[in-house]
Amino acid sequence: MPHHTPLIATLVAGFVGAFLMGALAHRLRISPLAGYLAAGILIGPFTPGFVADAEIATELAELGVILLMFGVGLHFSLKDLLSVRKIAVPGAVAQIAAATLMGMGLAYLLGWTLVAGFVFGLALSVASTVVLLRALESRNLVQTDRGRIAIGWLIVEDLAMVLALVLLPGLAEFLGGGASGSGSSIGVTLGVTIAKVAAFVAFMLLVGKRVIPAALHWVVHTGSRELFRLAVLAIALGVAFGATALFDVSFALGAFFAGMILGETRLSKRAAEETLPLRDAFAVLFFVSVGMLFDPAVVLEQPLALAATVAIIVIGKSLAAFGLVRAFGHGNDTAFSVSASLAQIGEFSFILAGLGVSLGLLPEEGRDLILAGAIVSILLHPFVFAAVADRSAARAGLDGKPQTETFPSKSVTEANEAGHIVLVGYGRVGRLIGKGLADTGRQFVVIEDQPDIAEAARENAMGVVVGNAADPGTLLRAGIASASKLLIAIPEGYEAGGIAERARALNLQLGVIARAHSDEEVVHLEKLGVQHVIMGERQIAAKMLECTTALRAERQQS
Ligand code: AMP
Repeated sequence: MPHHTPLIATLVAGFVGAFLMGALAHRLRISPLAGYLAAGILIGPFTPGFVADAEIATELAELGVILLMFGVGLHFSLKDLLSVRKIAVPGAVAQIAAATLMGMGLAYLLGWTLVAGFVFGLALSVASTVVLLRALESRNLVQTDRGRIAIGWLIVEDLAMVLALVLLPGLAEFLGGGASGSGSSIGVTLGVTIAKVAAFVAFMLLVGKRVIPAALHWVVHTGSRELFRLAVLAIALGVAFGATALFDVSFALGAFFAGMILGETRLSKRAAEETLPLRDAFAVLFFVSVGMLFDPAVVLEQPLALAATVAIIVIGKSLAAFGLVRAFGHGNDTAFSVSASLAQIGEFSFILAGLGVSLGLLPEEGRDLILAGAIVSILLHPFVFAAVADRSAARAGLDGKPQTETFPSKSVTEANEAGHIVLVGYGRVGRLIGKGLADTGRQFVVIEDQPDIAEAARENAMGVVVGNAADPGTLLRAGIASASKLLIAIPEGYEAGGIAERARALNLQLGVIARAHSDEEVVHLEKLGVQHVIMGERQIAAKMLECTTALRAERQQS
């Protein structure tokens, strides 16, 4: 092949590698993140065979960060952001200070300079957006108190890192004795950076708030789905890029604001749906790109220093965050969740470490430790987070109190009464079923993965579980083990098959009724033993034929 196509090669290697290793991880029942990281290590420069372009991979990963933060912004209002500022600002600042001090302590033991320790500690203090959001989303915690605190905290960290990145070159010059690197010039750089961030926020609130929703409304009225999809992408990527190019704020922050402004409009839900597939694909590339940077040799060469680095990230930072959240009067569960969600490092740490090395402030082994620490902390994160989340879930169960995050409208134990119906999906179809069941006095529990839609089920259902019904834990929370029937009212026939299989494994007596859209889906579901498969199109055709006959009869009569 004559062309040199590094972008395509990196994309293909990233996606194919992530898919294969992700599938292997799935088979081994470990976190898919481990698979994506392993794929990155395999296509990285430190293992034999094909080597993808690390710079391109990092840029592609940035797209994932942009789309993720845009998605978070869509669900976040300015009010939400301001409501957590009292804890997020001091919390993040104090946690950064604590982590930096711990990093400096380790650096001192390793015999590095004070400044090297400062850069090292700073890099250990900031959590990864992608890892945090994936953890919160996997447990539907984004729109809860603890989720808001963690995200507000992350945004403050993000802002602090924007400042750190612009200040480091000044600090390097200052230490090098450069004429322009005086203390006052550092003060000026700091002032200019803060002014730029303020200008960006003001611009978005004054201009963006008017222009973006108006543009999107206009697009909706053109009636073109394709244009709408393009408009959403253009806004997310355009604002993120513009924010960086014009105001020097991070991509993540730019995208977050774009999302937050769109989130105030009624179109936000559609906008979120449009970016989902791209967002998930690029978020996966984020992990691949992290894996590519990892040099496995560091594990053998500096095992103790690596263990200490990981301990700072996972234990030291968590203890600091836990103490801070508790000190602000929040309960243990919130403190555990917030600290666990931040117990990892990622993209900002790499950027900071890279800059530190290029400015001669940080030794190369410092960067290697940061990268290795990031990989280990990202690998450990799902376990740490699951342990914490399950702990609070178990507590909620013991207390018999409804869990606000998943808001079963009545407690889970009540939902476990024998013989109830479990209804999956509360959209156009599920809603009608729910109403019908309520009218006839039937007891049912709804499983719905969109929190705002789930809210609608509260009135009629005896319990509502927010989550993906394909997850056995979600099915169990809906009391599947003692249910009599499962009605799967989601449009995806193959996904419905997966749900039916898992539910039957938990309750052999369960009667299952599912919805399908194609003949292939009907066959698939019937093969899995679903007793009744309702195919929408067949029902519509039958009803239309019935109406045709009725019309003819009416004509003949008149
Ligand atoms: P509709 O097609 O309008 O009847 O909506 C289907 C509903 O099912 C939507 O509200 C989805 O959020 C929900 N849904 C789809 N897949 C799942 C799933 N795996 N678990 C729970 N809810 C789901």
